[in-house]
Amino acid sequence: MGAARGRSGQGAPALFLDRDGTVCELVPYLHEPGRVRLVPGSGAALRAAREAGYRLVVVTNQGGIARGFFTAGDVDAVHAAVQAALAPCGVQIDAFYTCPHHPDFTGACSCRKPEPGLLQRAARELDLDLQRSYMIGDTIEDVQAGVRAGCKGILVMTGYGADQFASRRESLPAGVTPTPDLAAAVGWLLAPEEPTSQR
Ligand SMILES: [Mg+2]
Ligand SMILES: [Zn+2]
Repeated sequence: MGAARGRSGQGAPALFLDRDGTVCELVPYLHEPGRVRLVPGSGAALRAAREAGYRLVVVTNQGGIARGFFTAGDVDAVHAAVQAALAPCGVQIDAFYTCPHHPDFTGACSCRKPEPGLLQRAARELDLDLQRSYMIGDTIEDVQAGVRAGCKGILVMTGYGADQFASRRESLPAGVTPTPDLAAAVGWLLAPEEPTSQR
């Protein structure tokens, strides 16, 4: 889609991607690389988005680090497994940003979604245009973080998404688009027509 292609003087658009329940099948406190499974269709969708000009940035809350359930090194190993799973699809994640905090153990922070800190840091470090970017996730907190950062939000129904949409729909920020999964989200945002005014 034309909107993704660069305008002079601006940063690149990005897809900010939640990891668990969005790119990868939901495994609570996932920390074993061998348990990484992509949500079906994700690899091809991410390749299409990358080819359309979107940077691919995973933004993930990993409060299990603060809880002592696993280490930052374990998270790195999971991210390496995600890259290995995506490699046959001809695409790689450009960067992973992780919040290692948990309010009950390390106090408040500005990076745990729904706070927008990870997206803002990525935008600075990778020269991204937040206004042309999307946050795609399976929880209300994911899309809230995206909207607070100035992006558009897409809630997928994989992972916790269907439950979130059923039980917390009133908390969805205005303009957030619900969609079946990551592949459908990418298909929607790359579609040439603009049938609604929400884009
Ligand atoms: Mg998730
Ligand atoms: Zn944090």
